[in-house]
Amino acid sequence: MDTLFAFVISAVVLLFFMRRYLKDLKKSEARARAAAEKAKLRSDGPRAQHPHIDAEYCIGCAACTSVCPEGDVLAMLGGKAAIVNPFKCIGHALCADICPVGAIAMVMASPSVSADMPRLTPEYETSVPNLFIAGELGGLALIKNAVSQGRDSIDHIANRLASQRTSSPSPEVHDVFIVGAGPAGISASLRAIERKLNYITVDEGEIGGTVAKYPRQKLVLTSPVEFPMHGKFTKTELSKEDLMAFWSKVLERADFQYRPGEKVEDIRKGEDALFTITTTKGQYRARAVVLAMGRAGSPRKLGVKGEELPKVMYRLIEADHYINKHILVVGGGDSAVEAAMGLAHQVGNTVTLSYRQDSFSRIKERNSQRIAECIRKGKVTVLYNSQPVEFKARSVMLDVKGETREIPNDFVWIFAGGEAPNAFLKKIGVGFGSRDLTSEAGNEVKRAASKTGGSPVLAGR
Ligand SMILES: Cc1cc2nc3c(=O)[nH]c(=O)nc-3n(C[C@H](O)[C@H](O)[C@H](O)COP(=O)(O)OP(=O)(O)OC[C@H]3O[C@@H](n4cnc5c(N)ncnc54)[C@H](O)[C@@H]3O)c2cc1C
Repeated sequence: MDTLFAFVISAVVLLFFMRRYLKDLKKSEARARAAAEKAKLRSDGPRAQHPHIDAEYCIGCAACTSVCPEGDVLAMLGGKAAIVNPFKCIGHALCADICPVGAIAMVMASPSVSADMPRLTPEYETSVPNLFIAGELGGLALIKNAVSQGRDSIDHIANRLASQRTSSPSPEVHDVFIVGAGPAGISASLRAIERKLNYITVDEGEIGGTVAKYPRQKLVLTSPVEFPMHGKFTKTELSKEDLMAFWSKVLERADFQYRPGEKVEDIRKGEDALFTITTTKGQYRARAVVLAMGRAGSPRKLGVKGEELPKVMYRLIEADHYINKHILVVGGGDSAVEAAMGLAHQVGNTVTLSYRQDSFSRIKERNSQRIAECIRKGKVTVLYNSQPVEFKARSVMLDVKGETREIPNDFVWIFAGGEAPNAFLKKIGVGFGSRDLTSEAGNEVKRAASKTGGSPVLAGR
């Protein structure tokens, strides 16, 4: 009897410890999975603003995972929200808005990434006093952000000038010089009119910036924003054409001082604290400058033989101008996928999409679903693990998984991103990194001036 009792007790104890061991094993497997996800995040992290989840406060309600228009940026891992597709985040911040316990905050990129971003004060001023950055150039995407920053940077300039002005301003010296006429530059210009500043805006291209380059009839998603000379702009979904028409109407009414087709090549600050701006068409003088140049920069080239042929292009606006053609689109981001789908819907086109990775991992959820549908219906042929090796007059040579393939071709579009205008910013003395300069602007300027030996940056507001 005693032996039986001892046996039962041992079996219960053994069972208890086995259950505990299995539970611990499960827990450590879950921890390893979460750690692997985190490691992936670090190596493949977000480029700019993205949600930061405080796991201590997250109650695991999953509300944040379903609200994002870009799809699966966030997911539940081990009962807590986590970023799983950081590149898809373009900063809508709806996840932060919906979180019932305030566990999500929008933050800028990690220090290694932000080291590559211009350093700005909360007023969007760079390390060069009176030189401001508004819009995507400062690291924050989206039209609403560009509009708010363009407007607010002008308010800071107007307030500062009002407190500093001793004599009436010379008509040759602009109060503010605005570089770029995208959403940030348009908003800054309209606010400058409202604040009665003597301003001028130049753009190397056309009005609208990146928006003007969207494919025809692209659906633009935005959030309500206070638009200078108009008031609250409340539409949240509209076509590119409708947005451009809205801007044209406001700008016409406002007598917009704008020079298109003029590229800013250099900006220097003199001992008198005034800026001299050199463009492809002349020189200007200004008390303050707003750089609203975006981050698109010049399109990145592949360096492939034949890339100089006129049939090779880097942006697509009118997809319906191309019918009955053999077309190659190169790239794996939203722009490439949207262009391929737009061209595939035109009569008689055969569209091949060449991408060097083995899947589309950085595109919006909506595009992900639409391209899958196009592939299924045979409208677009996707060649993963491929890259062009030569563009010829009537064909292209592609390396597909190590094998060379030649396909007939009339036109090529390359979407390999752009070279951000960091070299230009560094040339004119803008400091990089994430520190807040509010208290140290003066020192920073002196350091930059001594480093560059009487360079563009000289102290004095
Ligand atoms: C395909 C695509 C789809 C998008 N969809 C959306 C969307 O649906 N909703 C949304 O909110 N955002 C969207 N965005 C992001 C949005 O377009 C940008 O965040 C926004 O346009 C940034 O505005 P910006 O004024 O800062 O810069 P930009 O719009 O890039 O404008 C910069 C301007 O500066 C000019 N410039 C640059 N350098 C110089 C120079 N040296 N001299 C003179 N001029 C210069 C350029 O010519 C350009 O006109 C999308 C972006 C892309 C690429």
